[in-house]
Amino acid sequence: MQPLRPENRASPDLVPALGPGLYIVATPIGNLGDLSPRAAAVLAGVALIAAEDSRVTAKLLHHIGVRVPMLAYHDHSDDKVRQGLIARALREPVALVSDAGTPLISDPGYKLVRDARAAGVNLVTIPGPCAAVAALTLSGLPTDRFLFAGFLPAKAGARATAIAELAGIRATLVLYESGPRLAASLAALAQGLGDRPAAIGRELTKRFEESVAGSLSELAARYAEAAPRGEIVITIAPPGESHPADAATLDSALQAALAGGSVKTAVAAVSAALKLPRAQVYARALVLKAENGAC
Ligand code: SAM
Repeated sequence: MQPLRPENRASPDLVPALGPGLYIVATPIGNLGDLSPRAAAVLAGVALIAAEDSRVTAKLLHHIGVRVPMLAYHDHSDDKVRQGLIARALREPVALVSDAGTPLISDPGYKLVRDARAAGVNLVTIPGPCAAVAALTLSGLPTDRFLFAGFLPAKAGARATAIAELAGIRATLVLYESGPRLAASLAALAQGLGDRPAAIGRELTKRFEESVAGSLSELAARYAEAAPRGEIVITIAPPGESHPADAATLDSALQAALAGGSVKTAVAAVSAALKLPRAQVYARALVLKAENGAC
């Protein structure tokens, strides 16, 4: 990473006189050029930066020629750390950043913002890069309604249950994933949601950025051959208008849920997700169980 040329550094004239408060600052997800001038000015103007990993944020500060004290913050940090930050933000400007992208989005910050709000701290957001939104814009999938579901659980059973809960949602789904787990997650998604159109956003804003479209099963086969490197977002089309909860959708959601839990749990999850009567789902679950001899 090259430091900025002197003329591009945060000049003293650009450093704002910030009032007390918690400034939630989005940072680049790979391309340093995506740090907004306002974000750089706020980082230069605060008294303290609460950072997920101060070593990562130190590189960003070096890039913009700024030196500000930092404190490590996670939502599982001791309550004293959080209360200390809130006390500071009541009397001086404090920034919250994560390693990359928008704080709080699959990153630390929720508990800090919740408690800061309750304590009457002035809250200011400095919006910017977010991998979920960046992937959505490239996906070619509907953007009028989308659901960001973070990371799927790592274990197959919990993952199948989580997918069953998503099956009936009439919105584009957005998930974060890692390269080594991508193929297995896509296969589980194809089974639990039906073979919907999807896109994989990889290394967004970086040199090897790509957005690859295909059906979930096509993408699963593609990435089973070789696990992709880098950071990944999965986007998945909403269930088709004509068969939101048709027999195939019900069967695939039930099979996924039955693989991860009891009939009772599977029926509860699938009937809620697909908005189908429990009795109908239960009857179909018994048939599938008998046919497959599974679970
Ligand atoms: N707060 C961040 C944001 O606003 O996007 C997300 C943090 S989350 C811990 C990290 C995950 O975001 C990665 O595992 C990956 O799924 C996704 N991600 C982050 N940067 C990305 C990029 N440049 N391209 C694709 N996905 C990315």
